[in-house]
Amino acid sequence: MDRQYDYILGGGGTAGLTLALLMAKDSFFFDKRILIIDPQPKNTNDRTFCFWKNDIFPLEEIIYKKWDKLSFIDEKGQELDLELGDYTYNMIRGIDFYNHINPILKKAPHIDQVQAKIIQINEIGETVEVQTAQEKYFGRYFFKSYYDKINLSNYNSTIQHFKGYIIETEEGFFDPERSTLMDFSIPQEDDTRFFYVLPLSPTKALVEIAIFSNEIATNDEYDCWLKDYITNDLGIQKFTIEEEELGQIPMTDYPFKNHDTSQIIHIGTGGGNVKPSSGYAFMRIQKHIYKIVECLKFGDDPVNAKRIFSSKFKWYDRIFLNVILKNRVKGAAVFSAMFHRTPAKHIFEFLDEETTFLKDLNVIYTQKKWPFIKAVFDELF
Ligand SMILES: Cc1cc2nc3c(=O)[nH]c(=O)nc-3n(C[C@H](O)[C@H](O)[C@H](O)COP(=O)(O)OP(=O)(O)OC[C@H]3O[C@@H](n4cnc5c(N)ncnc54)[C@H](O)[C@@H]3O)c2cc1C
Repeated sequence: MDRQYDYILGGGGTAGLTLALLMAKDSFFFDKRILIIDPQPKNTNDRTFCFWKNDIFPLEEIIYKKWDKLSFIDEKGQELDLELGDYTYNMIRGIDFYNHINPILKKAPHIDQVQAKIIQINEIGETVEVQTAQEKYFGRYFFKSYYDKINLSNYNSTIQHFKGYIIETEEGFFDPERSTLMDFSIPQEDDTRFFYVLPLSPTKALVEIAIFSNEIATNDEYDCWLKDYITNDLGIQKFTIEEEELGQIPMTDYPFKNHDTSQIIHIGTGGGNVKPSSGYAFMRIQKHIYKIVECLKFGDDPVNAKRIFSSKFKWYDRIFLNVILKNRVKGAAVFSAMFHRTPAKHIFEFLDEETTFLKDLNVIYTQKKWPFIKAVFDELF
């Protein structure tokens, strides 16, 4: 087998498969050789992607559930009916994502897949040498989406960790048209924590707790919080757990792009695609990958694709993290002020980094000024 490739994709998860799908479909890549290396077969429902959007997008056909009504519940238990405009909230199941993309890749003659773990990468001149336990491969570009442990202690950093159940109730309990984006009406401990409830039918919903904290909860703790919320807050006495989801996502202002070279480009979580102030990553990964493909096609350096993440929003994220990590304002209070005082459609546009400075002010002015000004000075000096 000729082990020389134009593009090697290290990791075939969300970012790797998104890139591979575009390379499978776009005729620009038909005369290129592409290799995906991943130790996992990607045949389990290992995650659920939820995201808002206000446009048709290429993975429309695998959206599992869409909601056009969303609630937000503040710390005092007040429920807001969010003004979404043309936004919807959407869910894609990991298994549907993998099962949609992998068969397309198998049929693409210019794409090879290898199930192996990469143990080392080296840059030799204009080539990247990629070593698995069994073989060595060579590529012009290497897109790396597996995530190495990084020391984040000198940065504003926390971890969004979460556990969720898909539960089934005996009687119809949920409104499948409406989901709860965030419910902060639970004890906040010393961190930021909320539940979300995403109904799939009148008798089925994903109920999940998310916590921003460097102290990861134990399984028993998650189970205790989830069962307490389902029985006491939602008032459901009888339910069965159909599936579980567990995960951790870094929320940090660490400059991931410094790891990139002219040949090794980091994508996905390790490419800094997680929005530091919200933990949402799925749509940012899509945007980054589309931009990479555009760069490759039009002769621009794919490293430059990260320019879509502007320094203005990086700065906002940094200030947000400073405020909540230094406990200047509770995270729950920051989100509540935002959703009470600005229509959700503006907040989504802001979090998607699509707003002008004037529009940013709509969101910025929802917050208490002094804690944020102190955070700005803290970051400057
Ligand atoms: C449970 C869970 C739920 C999430 N839900 C949401 C959500 O609702 N909305 C949202 O916006 N974001 C969500 N995220 C965050 C983010 O969208 C996902 O983590 C996303 O999968 C990140 O994509 P990725 O390609 O960086 O990583 P992954 O999808 O994890 O892919 C990395 C791949 O690298 C492979 N790999 C690992 N080590 C090696 C190695 N040495 N050599 C080769 N390959 C290797 C892995 O097997 C894996 O397939 C969630 C994350 C998790 C974990």
